Amino acid sequence: MEKKFSYLDAIGEQNICFAGMKRLYLYPGMEFRSEIKWWPDKGMRVTPHEGVDICYFLDSTGEECRVTPEFRVPVMATGRVLAISKDYLGETVFLDHQYEQLSRFLSIYAHITPLPDLKTGDKVCAGDVIGTVADTAGKKNRIPAHLHITLMTIAKAVPVEKFDWHMISYPEDAKLIDPLRMLNTKKIEFMSKNHWKEMFGL
Ligand SMILES: [Zn+2]
Repeated sequence: MEKKFSYLDAIGEQNICFAGMKRLYLYPGMEFRSEIKWWPDKGMRVTPHEGVDICYFLDSTGEECRVTPEFRVPVMATGRVLAISKDYLGETVFLDHQYEQLSRFLSIYAHITPLPDLKTGDKVCAGDVIGTVADTAGKKNRIPAHLHITLMTIAKAVPVEKFDWHMISYPEDAKLIDPLRMLNTKKIEFMSKNHWKEMFGL
């Protein structure tokens, strides 16, 4: 029987530190629709979280690690690059999976540095690498480098020029889907407290 494609396994195939990963940690604020921030900053998110953030994990030796800027980003399904746009931490790649006649199913990879030769219209297969996680050193709010994933369906009538971070945050014509439904949920652990809160005794 053909093995079901697992996105977390695909990440492990591309990143030695992630291979044999025991747990993906989701701290409060990293999950879909969360209204709080998971990095050291007061206040709430401007809009509910548009997807999930992949950053902290327990590696094969049982040590907690963090995604670093060299972290290679594979795609979760075969598709075509629909758009590449800048976001506040790096760039966002929109991948179109040709869902239905009138709507697109998109997987979106944000806060990354796309491969230099990646361009709109390119076909990529499940597991192919499209870039690395963007370095956030010196960026606002001390947000650690991480991979943000959004899934959405959107009408084909929406022009490609509209595909940017603003559209993800204010998805008037789109329907956002919880990315956890596409991941191997057995390896995901929801944490009760954030790192920085522990650090500052909050
Ligand atoms: Zn995010």
